[in-house]
Amino acid sequence: PLTAADGVADAPRSVGPRDLGPPIVEIRNVQKHFGSNHVLRDVSLTVRTGEVVVIAGRSGSGKSTLLRCVDHLETIDGGSITACGHLMGYRQDSSGKLVPLGDGKVARQRREMGMVFQSFNLFPHLSALRNITLSPVKIMGENPAKAEAHARELLARVGLPDKADAYPAQLSGGQQQRVAIARALAMRPKVMLFDEPTSALDPEMISEVLDVMIDLSRQGMTMIVVTHEMGFARAAADRVLLMHGGEIVEESPPEEFFTNPKSEHTKLFLSKIL
Ligand code: ADP
Ligand code: MG
Repeated sequence: PLTAADGVADAPRSVGPRDLGPPIVEIRNVQKHFGSNHVLRDVSLTVRTGEVVVIAGRSGSGKSTLLRCVDHLETIDGGSITACGHLMGYRQDSSGKLVPLGDGKVARQRREMGMVFQSFNLFPHLSALRNITLSPVKIMGENPAKAEAHARELLARVGLPDKADAYPAQLSGGQQQRVAIARALAMRPKVMLFDEPTSALDPEMISEVLDVMIDLSRQGMTMIVVTHEMGFARAAADRVLLMHGGEIVEESPPEEFFTNPKSEHTKLFLSKIL
C-alpha cells in the first residue's frame, strides 16, 4: 500500500555515490543463536563513515538482532563487531584472548551510537526538553544550561521548536518519535541505528519522521536503518540490504536493488511490498 512516505520515491539521490569516509562499523562473520535457532549466519557488513545503509527483510529474518548485536545489547556467538573504534563488548588481553568488558565499559562504547526503536520509549513524566537533556547532564556531566541550549537546537532540527515543555502524552506518535531522535542526537553519536522507526506510526505521521531522517543523512550522519519504507531507501540510502533467514542475501545501491535485484528473495520481497 502507498504511504505518505512514497512521495520521496520520485527523488532518488541524484548525486550518485557520495564521498564516504573510512569504515566505522565492521561486522565480521557474526554468528548468533537463540537456543537452537540460528538467527545470524556468518553475517559480514562494513559501513563507512557518512554512509546510509538500509536493511529490509521479512519479519524474523534477523534484522533487529543484527542491530542489537552492533550495540552489544545482544552478545554474539562468533565473529566480531568493531564500532567507532571499539571492539564491542570485549577487550583483548596481552595474549590476544578476548575478555568480556564490564557493564560500565560497554555503556561507554554504546554511547557513541544512538539507537531509535519502533516504540519511542520517552520518559512519560519528563518534558520533551528534559527527555533530551537527561543523559547529557546525568551521564556525560554536561553543563545543564549548555545541554538545554543544545536540546532546543535539536528540537528545532526535528521540526518541534515549540514543544520543549510538552510531555510525551501531549505529543502525537510522529512528534514523540522525533523527540526520540533528538534525544539520541543529544549524545552526539557517531552512528545512528534505527529499528523500524515508523512501524508504530499512523500513516499520516510516517513522512514527518522520514523527512527528519533524510535531513540527517544529508548532513552526513552514518546511519543503519531497518525499515520497509522503500521511499526512504530511494531517497537516502547508499546501499540497500535484504536479510533472509539470518543472512544478507542482497546488497546493492538503491537503483539496482529496485530495478535489477540479484536475489530471488529480493524479487519476492519487492513484489509484496511495492
Ligand atoms: P526481525 O527484526 O528481522 O523481525 P529478529 O531479529 O527480531 O527479526 O528475530 C530473528 C529471530 O530470532 C526470530 O526467529 C526471533 O523469534 C528470534 N529472537 C529474537 N530475539 C529473541 C530473543 N530475545 N530470544 C529468543 N529468540 C529471539
Ligand atoms: Mg525487528
